[in-house]
Amino acid sequence: PLSCGIVGLPNVGKSTLFNAITQAGAESANYPFCTIDPNVGVVEVPDERLNKLVELVVPKSIVPTAFEFVDIAGLVAGASKGEGLGNKFLAHIREVDAIVHVVRCFQDENITHVAGKVNPISDIETINLELILADIDSVEKKIDRSRKNMKGGDKKVAQEVEVLERIKDVLYADKPARSLELTDDEQLLVRDLHLLTMKPVLYAANVSEEEAANSEDNEYVQMVRQFAAEEGAEVVPISAKVESEIAELDGEDKQMFLEELGMQESGLNRLIRAAYKLLGLYTYFTAGVQEVRAWTIVKGTKAPQAAGVIHTDFERGFIRAEIVSYDDLAAAGSMAIVRERGQLRLEGKEYVVQDGDVIHFRFNV
Ligand code: GDP
Repeated sequence: PLSCGIVGLPNVGKSTLFNAITQAGAESANYPFCTIDPNVGVVEVPDERLNKLVELVVPKSIVPTAFEFVDIAGLVAGASKGEGLGNKFLAHIREVDAIVHVVRCFQDENITHVAGKVNPISDIETINLELILADIDSVEKKIDRSRKNMKGGDKKVAQEVEVLERIKDVLYADKPARSLELTDDEQLLVRDLHLLTMKPVLYAANVSEEEAANSEDNEYVQMVRQFAAEEGAEVVPISAKVESEIAELDGEDKQMFLEELGMQESGLNRLIRAAYKLLGLYTYFTAGVQEVRAWTIVKGTKAPQAAGVIHTDFERGFIRAEIVSYDDLAAAGSMAIVRERGQLRLEGKEYVVQDGDVIHFRFNV
């Protein structure tokens, strides 16, 4: 499954946030593909469309889609030189698909700030620098190796070195590799390096309990917004402490607590949705009377492979897919009306599944 790593300096609220995630977390029995590890939290993706489908179909069971958050604690200045447990943590970051960077935006004299005072921008830069240094190391090693192998002027290797040199320049300018615009082909050439600063990032601005509902008033949040806007990254203000309290409540209690705080929904829900988007994932639905369920695919997945997410037999025996878009079904109000309106499409092996497709697969067993 795809995963999002939680990084940040010590004492910014990572563990508090991660605990909220695992508390609120999903029943892992529903997600046999997920990793069982104390540092991994499985979250269900809140989706209004799923609720609406449930109203229309009234199924026996409902299963949202899920992905993983990985707690990557212990990243400190000097990690790229092996400070702390540096290299181990960098290796964990290498394995995730996207990064949630937690930044301290709360003041609390009782909680030590590793750099002496709250300054979210210099915190972000400290972490980013470690990731950049680690990437410089990977890129330079790779350039050396490729140059040695380049006997007789292999065109592909020459191209790869050229891209790596451009990435190196960007890194030496203290910028993340993702700030360099690369074509799809160029990206493919360097994909195997799994560069840390190539991964998409969002910033979670951790504010105090008092500011949970009006986080935009917090000047640090505004600083983070400005910084993030320059790299085109998203910011999710969140109060990790409040989230850990919300996560302990259910149903009505939770609703009441949110209202007391003046919040529409939990910050965790907003964070989960933003992270899902960051991972570049699409959701399609199956909607039968037994079960209404959301499934995750990577953008660009064709119908048989999308079916394979449910079961490998579905992919192997794929015949066709009967598809209606969520919007059409919601507007029609029932499958019968969808059929009358001619909005049910039959699609074959080459069909690229779209976000929000409601699909019934036909397959041979
Ligand atoms: P980590 O080192 O980044 O994992 O940080 P922790 O989650 O362990 O948090 C460090 C300390 O800050 C703990 O004592 C938390 O209770 C506290 N903390 C986290 N978020 C907040 C917050 O929003 N407000 C206040 N006052 N304290 C917080």
